[in-house]
Amino acid sequence: MQILHVIVKRTKGKVLVLDITQFSTGQSVAFGAGQRKNVSEHLRSAGFERALVLTTPQQCDLGLEIAETLGTMAAGVFSKATMHTPTDVTDEAMAHLLDAQADSVVSVGGGSTIGLGKALVLRSDVGHLALPTTYAGSECTPILGQTENGVKTTMTDPKLRPGIVLYDAELVATLPAGMTITSALNAMAHAVEALYAKDRTEAATGLALEGIAAFQRALPAVMADPGDLEARQATQEGAWACGTVLGQVGMALHHKLCHTLGGSLNLPHAETHAIILPHATAYNQAATAEELAPVARMFGGDEPGLALWDFAKSLNAPMALKDLGVAQADLDRMAELATQNPYWNPREITKDGIRALLDRAWEGAPPQA
Ligand code: NAD
Repeated sequence: MQILHVIVKRTKGKVLVLDITQFSTGQSVAFGAGQRKNVSEHLRSAGFERALVLTTPQQCDLGLEIAETLGTMAAGVFSKATMHTPTDVTDEAMAHLLDAQADSVVSVGGGSTIGLGKALVLRSDVGHLALPTTYAGSECTPILGQTENGVKTTMTDPKLRPGIVLYDAELVATLPAGMTITSALNAMAHAVEALYAKDRTEAATGLALEGIAAFQRALPAVMADPGDLEARQATQEGAWACGTVLGQVGMALHHKLCHTLGGSLNLPHAETHAIILPHATAYNQAATAEELAPVARMFGGDEPGLALWDFAKSLNAPMALKDLGVAQADLDRMAELATQNPYWNPREITKDGIRALLDRAWEGAPPQA
């Protein structure tokens, strides 16, 4: 990906005002603890005057804090963002956007909130500034999944990639330990699948490895001291790299399985990714030995799936689908659904193979190639 230019403006020895890297995708990205206090400057410099702040109900206070820093540029706070971007919630947010005559949205939150921001951009062409508070990576992609009458559809459109992304390390420092590790593994899953993607490129592979390495280095420090902002920023750099490759190349078995499980059994997004990643990696590792070798080297050992499983376990990640409330009786149907529509994967997908994978993931047993 080509970097177009970097704008750096600093007030004398004081707060960093703008420190933006602009990419050829049209996206401007800045990192730095406290960046959330600079939202109005970033919006103004992009030509926007009135922004509606979006959050989940759980992060409403944070939305109010951002709105306060926006002063007269604030067009209100809409705090009903929810998982899978239901269209009725988007309808309600759209009515507020029009009422308040906002020309932009500020999504402060994880993939659910950023998804709502994208859904509003799709309908109205407003500007979108994202302040990610998880590592899921939606802020980097032109992808939107929406749910209508219980049916989820996914679309891709370059205009859906938020124009400005501010990674403020203080915003992820509030992530509880459990969410920190699951969200990080969710991000790493994008990068692992990018390594063997059918349409992989040298650049995407390089970025994917950087992303995984950033988490491998920084996560233990973050888990030991959740308030370590330097380590938190390193994990956000990893999230940016992993999210960016998710927007560049196609995903395979891991993402398909997580969507099937998550959609059919209403499972939590990040936890499902965290549990499935080592198993999906192990399933594919014989067919992608060369591509996944750097992952095994990074985490130790010869088997990338097992190495990721050991890493997750060492950081107290959830390891078993049964702990998410999945019944063993559901596994047959899940294997059936996950093998129903053929999709590209480096190794042939068989119902028996997936059923065995799900058994181990359900039990919390180590993965097997
Ligand atoms: P989320 O946005 O659903 O957030 C989960 C919960 O954690 C919410 O209650 C939220 O308010 C809370 N939370 C978020 N950040 C917090 C923080 N720093 N401190 C305390 N609480 C916090 O979780 P997610 O995993 O980021 O996103 C999942 C959704 O995003 C799914 O719907 C998924 O499909 C979508 N997604 C989309 C893309 C894409 O490219 N379109 C990429 C990744 C994920």
